[in-house]
Amino acid sequence: MSEAIPLIELRAIRKCYGGGDTPEVEVLRGISLSIHAGEFVAIVGASGSGKSTLMNLLGCLDRPTSGEYLFAGLDVAGLGADALAWLRREAFGFVFQGYHLIPTESARENVEMPAIYAGLPDAERAARAISLLQRLGLGDRLDHRPSQLSGGQQQRVSIARALMNGGRIILADEPTGALDSRSGEEVMALLNALADAGHTILLITHDREVAAQARRIIEVRDGQVVADSQAAASGETSVSASIVNATPAAASLLGSPQQLVAAMQQGSSARPVFWSDLREACRAAWRVMTINRFRTALTLLGIVIGVAAVIVMLAVGNGAKRNILSQISMFGSKNLYLEPQGESALQNGGRISLDDVAAVREIPNVLAAMPYLEGFYTARYDNRDFRTEIGGVTVEFPLTINWNVARGSFFNTTDENSMAKVVLLGTSVKKALFPDEVDPLGKYVLLNNIPFQVIGLLAEKGAGRGQQDEDNRVVIPYSTASSQIFGSPYPNWVAITLDDPALMHETEQAVDQLMMARHHIKDYRLFNAASFIKGQAKASDTMSLLLGLIAVVSLLVGGIGIMNIMLMTVRERTREIGIRMATGARQRDIMRQFLTEAMLVSLVGGAVGVVLGLLIGGVLVVAGVPIIFSISAILGAFGSAMLAGLIFGYTPAKKAAQLDPVVALASE
Ligand code: ADP
Ligand code: MG
Repeated sequence: MSEAIPLIELRAIRKCYGGGDTPEVEVLRGISLSIHAGEFVAIVGASGSGKSTLMNLLGCLDRPTSGEYLFAGLDVAGLGADALAWLRREAFGFVFQGYHLIPTESARENVEMPAIYAGLPDAERAARAISLLQRLGLGDRLDHRPSQLSGGQQQRVSIARALMNGGRIILADEPTGALDSRSGEEVMALLNALADAGHTILLITHDREVAAQARRIIEVRDGQVVADSQAAASGETSVSASIVNATPAAASLLGSPQQLVAAMQQGSSARPVFWSDLREACRAAWRVMTINRFRTALTLLGIVIGVAAVIVMLAVGNGAKRNILSQISMFGSKNLYLEPQGESALQNGGRISLDDVAAVREIPNVLAAMPYLEGFYTARYDNRDFRTEIGGVTVEFPLTINWNVARGSFFNTTDENSMAKVVLLGTSVKKALFPDEVDPLGKYVLLNNIPFQVIGLLAEKGAGRGQQDEDNRVVIPYSTASSQIFGSPYPNWVAITLDDPALMHETEQAVDQLMMARHHIKDYRLFNAASFIKGQAKASDTMSLLLGLIAVVSLLVGGIGIMNIMLMTVRERTREIGIRMATGARQRDIMRQFLTEAMLVSLVGGAVGVVLGLLIGGVLVVAGVPIIFSISAILGAFGSAMLAGLIFGYTPAKKAAQLDPVVALASE
């Protein structure tokens, strides 16, 4: 019954090349022929007569300019790109003069390729490829690259590839053209055996001797059929005798056109097994990356530097922010600060008096108001000198500044009233003057050449704060400081501690009104931790904006690098793309593969960048720079790198997917 419908029927096929600005050439000029399942046909003609053009049309790699192509009764002109890819994959197996193997893949991987696009499970795929190669005498060459094989061996690999999905119709374009006569004979014997087994063979050759081995010879000259031996009516189609088991899809080719259409619809939309496909793409991508190691490394540099820079800078920024916060906690969130507006407390018109301080203490919600006198002087013990800040403070110091005494005790009101010469040392001062003593309490130090008795040690505030060492400080009673050291009663600033910090705003206003009433002009300044935080937040916002810009620029540079390498890859591997298309890859398969490659490049770049960022951060930590790594920054930088890969890999991948199979195959 299937005898009535030829497997392939061409009606008045014409093919023109050129047009537009190049001269138009008509290469095929009305070819009509029909081929039945199981035939072994040689198409013979001189070089340039249009044989390869005809084969590309027969194999659905190209479309005719005019005329009809019926495949098992179905008009191919109406099929979309995916359906044509399905036909190439399930119905045809191509054998080319130049073998057209993918140079970076092993023999086995080359043979497996058509089955990847057909979605055959991994294990079955490998088993089938190995058994095919073994039957073709290449069992010991499975993992060789094409360049490690002889021409005859490469051609046998390509025949195995043609058979991988069943190979119902073998299209062989000058398969012996590049081979020595012995290898050529082997290949012909193989084709003969396949023909015996029921495969339909279309052999294209310029060599009459080779053509003579076929069972029907069609002669082409100047784009027209000039002779057709039409030897057999049709083949015997003994499918069961095939040296390879036909896949179900290939079997349906022998059924009715309706069956074919149904199989095609099902098959062309079927997705390859996702994970297997992804793994395959990753593996291929990884191989290409490692082959071009140096180039890949250079391209990755942009992404690596971008990701590392973002991670390190955010970590440094976070570290700095924590510093600011710790400083703020020293200011205390319950405090309000009052200071003269002039540069110095001694400046005329810019003085806050102790009477002002006393008046501030009377304002509701004010718990304490501590005047502070400060200046740098030399402290001495024995023969050791140390320059330190002397702070004149009241007994309110531990409460307002939230600074505890580590050893001994703070002075009391009696000391203050009697202008006692007592001192509490900050940690740095203690270390400088009493490096070997655990407990200097009771000793006398000279401050500005006046002896003071040590009555306590201040708790350590913590080092590494950058600008100023808070622990390089001694505190003495305010009264003693103003009379003996500074010679001035006016504080440099006043710390005002509130009872209820929620009423900060109201209390600030009350202090302002009081000071205005007492001074009549605004020769003072009031601020609190909140306003300080606000100022710092503004600074850190500017910093974040800058960092964001750096991140965008570096990822942009990295992305452009990826785009560049991918465009290069697509150009270099144009023929590989053609081969993949000829063996049944759909546009989206090609697209996915190159996108996967771009993502893999950026994934590696991102990962290296993260590692580099952490390493640099580690070095900074050792160097004493405060650093806080944030997971979200690391993930964000990494994610952005991947996104850059996706975005910048898209154009090259699309370019690859839209290549014309014939043009891609012909490229060098
Ligand atoms: P054969 O395989 O028989 O040697 P081809 O089919 O390769 O012949 O080529 C037939 C003619 O078509 C040649 O003259 C060739 O120059 C021309 N031709 C083939 N491909 C193209 C193309 N893509 N663009 C323009 N001319 C082409
Ligand atoms: Mg040719």
